[in-house]
Amino acid sequence: MLITNVDIIRADGTAQKDMSVAVKGGRFAYIGKDIPPGEWGEVIDGGGNILIPGLVNSHTHVPMTLMRGYGDDMPLESWLFDRIFPFEDKLSAEDVYWGSLLGIAEMLSSGTTSFSDMYFHCGSIAKAALESGIKCNISRGVSCFDDTKRFVDLPAYAEMAELTGEFHKQGDGRILIDAAPHSEYTTRPDILADVADFAAANSLRVQVHLSETSKEHLECVGRHGKTPAQVMKDSGLFELPVTAAHCVWLTDSDIELLAENGVTVAHCPQSNLKLASGVARVSQMKNAGVKVAIGTDSAASNNNLDIFEEIRAASLLAKGVSLDPCALPAHEVFYMATKAGAAAQGREDCGDIAEGYRADFVMMNSKRISMTPDHNPLSNIVYAASGADVEMTVVDGRVLYRGGEFLTIDVERVLYQVKRCVQLLLAK
Ligand SMILES: [Zn+2]
Repeated sequence: MLITNVDIIRADGTAQKDMSVAVKGGRFAYIGKDIPPGEWGEVIDGGGNILIPGLVNSHTHVPMTLMRGYGDDMPLESWLFDRIFPFEDKLSAEDVYWGSLLGIAEMLSSGTTSFSDMYFHCGSIAKAALESGIKCNISRGVSCFDDTKRFVDLPAYAEMAELTGEFHKQGDGRILIDAAPHSEYTTRPDILADVADFAAANSLRVQVHLSETSKEHLECVGRHGKTPAQVMKDSGLFELPVTAAHCVWLTDSDIELLAENGVTVAHCPQSNLKLASGVARVSQMKNAGVKVAIGTDSAASNNNLDIFEEIRAASLLAKGVSLDPCALPAHEVFYMATKAGAAAQGREDCGDIAEGYRADFVMMNSKRISMTPDHNPLSNIVYAASGADVEMTVVDGRVLYRGGEFLTIDVERVLYQVKRCVQLLLAK
């Protein structure tokens, strides 16, 4: 594929005008001012549109699109126990499959090329992801509320082991399996340690929820005399590459701990706002050397999967809480949603537009109202654009979404099946 006449924004925010981009074998083969010689298959006139690296959603629970709008404006406990958990108890593998495809379609159409997920019936998520062509790091969340049960006794262990055997590195590496203790408050230190051992033995990365709410954080201190981050460190979890979602209530020494151990924080600003969990101290984390990526969390607590909204919210919140309009500038938050997210997934050759990198990219329509005028294309992307301005989404050099059309997903069928599944679930 050869795309001519495009502006490029790299992961570090630098922009280049009037460029040509060639893709071969799923990777960027040429990026420059000239039109490279050779046979390039499809040639696309970019018409002055903007290419950005594919966006990475570093924390979500994609099947929860089924619960979009099912419980809002409620206290966290009753939201969870009266709405979300009873609904989830009824979910079948088929429900999870259709919910995953709905969420994947939403992400592709709003510029996300890779996501990190934690849920159950994960084989259905993997199947949906493989069919759609998107990238994802899938993890089976491990919880345990029965003190007599060990990690290996849990259904989550069996599913995690099966998932790893069947799907890890499938789809030319587009599917990766991660290990995931759900959180400190839904497990025990010995389970955290056992999941860490499982991850180490299978060379997996780790996803976890960390200090999302004040209650969770303080109850852990009451239980163990340590913060959740300290409990995880002492369980050996931080010896692995970890992505920790939320991190709203980290202490100063927790922030140091995460920096020392190379943990990536998946910052989910809109979910934290909607559930009134608080605001993560991203500027402090960044100054302390903590790696930060961006996520939406689920559509039940967001309620969409548009990463453009999170990019903007992350930057605005950092400015608002610090009373510093220079906090988290456009290029930094853009890097978090691209290269930092890909690196957190263990995809070092993804997340940027550079020769040799995997060709995951998004073409933004520069003729849209929100993209006009073009004083500063990065500013338009970070502060003005939304997922609706995405013209084309490409993963490993394969066009998956273009001009409102999905090339790998029968979206009419997905919409029909999701409505059918939800109707049946509500009737159960
Ligand atoms: Zn979550």
